[in-house]
Amino acid sequence: MLVMKFGGTSVACAESIARVTRIVRERLHLQPVVVVSALAGVTDALQAMGALSRDGLLEEALSKLKGCEERHCESAKALLPAKSEAFCHKDLCPLFDEARALLKAVFAVQELTPRTLDRLLGFGERWSSLLVAEAFRAEGLRAVRVDSSDVVITDANYSHAAPLMDRIKSRVATSIRPRVQSGCVPVLGGFIGSTEEGVPTTLGRGGSDYTASILGASLDADSIEIWTDVDGMMTADPRICPDAQNIESISFDEAAELAHFGAKVLHPKTLQPAVDRGIPVYVLNSRHPENCGTRVEVTEPSEEGRVRSVACKRGITLAEVFARQGLESKLTSAIFDALEHQKCLVDLAAMSRSNLSLLLNSRSSADALSEFLQDKASVNVIEGCALVSLVGRNVARNPAICARALNALPNLPIRMIFHGASDMNLSFVVAEKDADQVVRSLHDALFPGQQVPRHSEAAIPLNKSQQPALVQAEA
Ligand code: ADP
Ligand code: ASP
Ligand code: MG
Repeated sequence: MLVMKFGGTSVACAESIARVTRIVRERLHLQPVVVVSALAGVTDALQAMGALSRDGLLEEALSKLKGCEERHCESAKALLPAKSEAFCHKDLCPLFDEARALLKAVFAVQELTPRTLDRLLGFGERWSSLLVAEAFRAEGLRAVRVDSSDVVITDANYSHAAPLMDRIKSRVATSIRPRVQSGCVPVLGGFIGSTEEGVPTTLGRGGSDYTASILGASLDADSIEIWTDVDGMMTADPRICPDAQNIESISFDEAAELAHFGAKVLHPKTLQPAVDRGIPVYVLNSRHPENCGTRVEVTEPSEEGRVRSVACKRGITLAEVFARQGLESKLTSAIFDALEHQKCLVDLAAMSRSNLSLLLNSRSSADALSEFLQDKASVNVIEGCALVSLVGRNVARNPAICARALNALPNLPIRMIFHGASDMNLSFVVAEKDADQVVRSLHDALFPGQQVPRHSEAAIPLNKSQQPALVQAEA
């Protein structure tokens, strides 16, 4: 069995859905289960509609929704010439009516709780999975749409729900496996699930990748394919570095680190269920299915230090915590208490005698921390930071890579450097506005076009690090 996930750009319009149909048809012999995201831009649009309704601008929200409905119906018209009218009338439009009613309810109470937001954002995948399953059938595939809320059972941690794997396994056994075995192609919306009581949840933005790997693990699939709009995992985000190279194969740990440090091509939680069951994950380009993409797999540990990619995570908040006089010795325990109590996630941290600097994902975490610590410390909050990281095994232990990276940094303020926090990354905190330039400078230095070694990695043996890095890697 094979789980294939198609992201928003891969199902953005009728033409791309037709392409997806051809890709799936070619893999029918592998017994595919298909996971789709919302059409590109729809989840963002739903989020905006929710905010508009909450803020009293219902008409604007409803007109955005109308635009969305027309977009889906136009795609249906192009994909289902014979029965688009019946499909829109009977299947699609009632789901849009449901969304309309929800926006009106948000407007009425002027409140958009995380629970309601999850219900609202989930419409994108409900619409797209309906449309894609119908498009498959119109092309003669035996496709059946399976409602993810019947299968992906989660806890009630709205906006970042965690899957309940045992429950999901038993749902998969009754509602997906028998269909696949009888030659059907189940089509599910990614990103969404529901609590055991049936309340809609989401797995976090970009979470359709995670759905694919949750289902892959529950089905014990032979492989998981993440189909997107680039040629796989690359040596940098190609939107920032157009000369970025494709990485043909990468270890699970490096890919997970890359996802965690901002490479949006994979959701950070995607790999764990696949790793747990040793299922290989492929990242592939739905516009160029003939390209080899990236294979993420178990590989032998190695002493070699190498950079696989330059990652960039934006929207980082830096919280500099300074102990109040006489309370220096209590600073660390107070901060850990505060983090635990406020459920703040820290990306990286650096400490000195009376100061601890933390990289947090949101301003609100920094504010919560500041309030909790007010008797013991003062907190200086700096928003608008980005974390630029070189990612690869033993990267931080390789002096040649470090030297090359430090030499390459442009003449811009670097707020912090994290070296050795993990062997897998060497990271720099910069202002968000400078991030692209820093990524490009590091990428140019570590992946100079004509010298990129086989497999697109800047490999520098640890014990010969004084020699010119890339010449050594080619030898
Ligand atoms: P999808 O809609 O298919 O889920 P995403 O937009 O979530 O696609 O992820 C694909 C995007 O990830 C690419 O268009 C690219 O700009 C971005 N990206 C960031 N870092 C990398 C990287 N190292 N390799 C490949 N793509 C990357
Ligand atoms: N549609 C959701 C989002 O935009 C999930 C996904 O695309 O993976 O976040
Ligand atoms: Mg994505």
